[in-house]
Amino acid sequence: MINVLTPDVYNRIAAGEVVDRPYSVVKELVENAIDAGATEISVEIEGGGKRRITVTDNGCGISKEDLPLAFRPHATSKLSTAEDLFTVMTLGFRGEAIASIASVSEMEIVSNAGGEAFALACKGGELGEIRAAAGAKGTRVTVENLFYNTPARLKFMKSDAQEEGDVGNMMARFLLSRPEVAFTYTVNGKVKYRSFGDGLKAALVAVYGAGILSDCIEISADKHGIKLAGFIGNRNFSKPNRSYQSLFVNGRYIVNQTVSAAISNAYAAYLMKRQYPFYVLFLDVPPEIVDVNVHPNKADVRFADNQIIYGSVYSVVSSVLDGNSRALEYVAPQSLPKQPPAAPQMTYAEAKKELQFDVSPLAGRTPAPRFFEQEREPLKFEVHAPTAAEIDYFEENKKFLLEQAQAKQERVDVKSLEYKGELFRTYLIYEYGDCAYILDQHAAHERLIYDRLREKTEQRAIVSQPMLMPYILEVNAAEYAFLEKNFGVLHELGFEAGAFGGTSIKVSAVPADLMGLDLKAFFGEILGSMESLRAIKLPDLLKDKLASAACKAAVKGGEKLTDEEARSLIERTEGDMGLKCPHGRPVAVKVKKSEMEKLFKRIV
Ligand code: ADP
Ligand code: MG
Repeated sequence: MINVLTPDVYNRIAAGEVVDRPYSVVKELVENAIDAGATEISVEIEGGGKRRITVTDNGCGISKEDLPLAFRPHATSKLSTAEDLFTVMTLGFRGEAIASIASVSEMEIVSNAGGEAFALACKGGELGEIRAAAGAKGTRVTVENLFYNTPARLKFMKSDAQEEGDVGNMMARFLLSRPEVAFTYTVNGKVKYRSFGDGLKAALVAVYGAGILSDCIEISADKHGIKLAGFIGNRNFSKPNRSYQSLFVNGRYIVNQTVSAAISNAYAAYLMKRQYPFYVLFLDVPPEIVDVNVHPNKADVRFADNQIIYGSVYSVVSSVLDGNSRALEYVAPQSLPKQPPAAPQMTYAEAKKELQFDVSPLAGRTPAPRFFEQEREPLKFEVHAPTAAEIDYFEENKKFLLEQAQAKQERVDVKSLEYKGELFRTYLIYEYGDCAYILDQHAAHERLIYDRLREKTEQRAIVSQPMLMPYILEVNAAEYAFLEKNFGVLHELGFEAGAFGGTSIKVSAVPADLMGLDLKAFFGEILGSMESLRAIKLPDLLKDKLASAACKAAVKGGEKLTDEEARSLIERTEGDMGLKCPHGRPVAVKVKKSEMEKLFKRIV
C-alpha cells in the first residue's frame, strides 16, 4: 500500500538528513545568521545542545508576515526561480533547515526586521500564534529538547561532553572562516570562544590561545590562479590528531584528501609518525575548476585536476617549511601597509583595510551577500563556460610545476667541482663555474647513508651480521604475538630473531650497517607503534627506522674532514644539488658569483 506522507512525517524523515546532532542544528542556525548579514552572532548551548540551543544575531531579521513562512518546508528567501540555483551565493537555499529542526524540537523564533519584534513558537511541527515580543534588530532562534519526539534519533546522540566537543569544533571553524564576524560561544553559561570580528589573527588567538601565533607561519601565496593563505604550524609544532586542521575551500569548511595529503607530505620530513601538522588554510580556486556539490554534513569538493591542486599546495607549504628561496614569496609580509612613512596620516581603519585587502585570506573569497557592494572587485553572476583565459590557469600551473620539478633536479658535473675548503668545520665550499655550492657535511652524509640503506632494504641486499652476545628482549604476550608474526619481515631486513622461551625473544643478528644499534630503544619504538600498524606497513616502518638509526652514524657538524673525505663526499652525491637530508633540510646551497658581487656592491 502506498501512503502519501503528511508534511509532518515527511519533515521528520528529512530532518534526519539535515540535522542529526546538535552540532548540525547549530551549523544551520549560524549559517542562516551569516546569510542574514549578521556581524554579531552569539551561540549558547546547554546540556550538549540537547537541552537548549540559542542563536542570536544582528542580521536583517524576518518580518512579521514572513515569520510563519520561515517554518514552512521549501520556503526560502534565497531562491525564487530555478535559474537562481546557479548563482546562489548564500550558505543555505533549500529552505528545509528551520522546518526540519522545528519538526523534531520545540523551537521559537523572535525576530525584528527593523521595526518591532515578533515571536512565533513551534512544537513538534505545530505552529503557535504570532505575538509581540521585545528584541533589537535581528533574530533569536531557540531550540529546546531536540529529538524529544523521535526516540530512535535521541538514542544515537552522544554524551553531553561529546556533543559539546563537536559543537565546539564547529564553532571554532566559524570563528576562523568568518573572522569579520564577532562570535560569542557559550556552554552552560560559560564563555568558551569570543571573537570581535577584527581579522584572522585575532580569531586564531580566540580559538587557540595567545601563544599560537608564535608557533605558526603566516602564508599568503597567490600564484597561477590558485590562492593559498592562512597559518601553518612551524616545523616543530605538531598535534596528536587531525582536529587541528582546518581547510576552507572558497570559504567553505572542507575535508579533502588531495589537499591534506599535499600538506602531510610537505611536513613528512619534520614530523614523527602519528603527529599531525597544525593548519588553518584558505584555498581559493577559480569556481570553474571545483565542484562543491557536497553532502550537507560531510563537506568535500572535487577538483578538475587533483595534480595541480596537490602540486600547488605541496610546493607552497614545502618551500616555506624547508625555507628555500621561494619561501619568501609565500610568507605573508609582516610589515604592511607598504608606504606608511609616506602616508603617516593613514588611519588605523584605512591601514587595516589595505592590509586586509592585500594579505587577508578574505580577499577574493565569497562574502555574505550583504557585503557584496563593499568589495572592490565586482562579482560575476553570469553562468558561463570557462573562457580560454580561464583555462590558461591550468597551463600556467603545469608550467609552474614543471619548473619546480626541474629546479629540484639540479645536477652538476661532479668532476668540474673544485673543493675550496671548509667553514666552521661544518660547511664545505665547492666552486663550479660561476657558482659556489656550500654543502652541509652532516646533512649530506646523512642523506647518503639513508639512501644507501633504503636502497639496500628495497633490494633485500642487507648483510646480516651475527652478534657475539645475542640480545634477549622481554615482551608481553601481545607484543610477542606481534613480533612472532613478523619474524620473516625482520629476517628480510637483516635481523635474526626467534623464540627464547616464555615471552622472550632472542635477537642474534642485526643488519651489518647497524652494529652499534640500541636494540632496546629500536624495538621499543616499533612495539610502541604496534597498535597503529594496520595503517602503516611494518616493513615500511622498519625501513624508515633503520635508515634513521643509520643516520646517527653520520659525520657531525664540527668534525673536521680531510680534503680527500670532502671530495669523496661530493662525489657520492653524484652532483645532485637539490638533495635534502632525511629531515628535509637542504644538503647544498648555491651562491652565484653575481650574488657575491651584489654583496660587495660591485654590481647593483
Ligand atoms: P534556507 O536557509 O535554505 O533558506 P532555512 O529553513 O534555513 O532555509 O530558513 C528559511 C528562511 O528563513 C530563510 O530563507 C530566511 O529567509 C529566513 N531566516 C532563517 N533564519 C534567519 C535569520 N537568522 N535571519 C533572517 N532570516 C532568517
Ligand atoms: Mg538555512
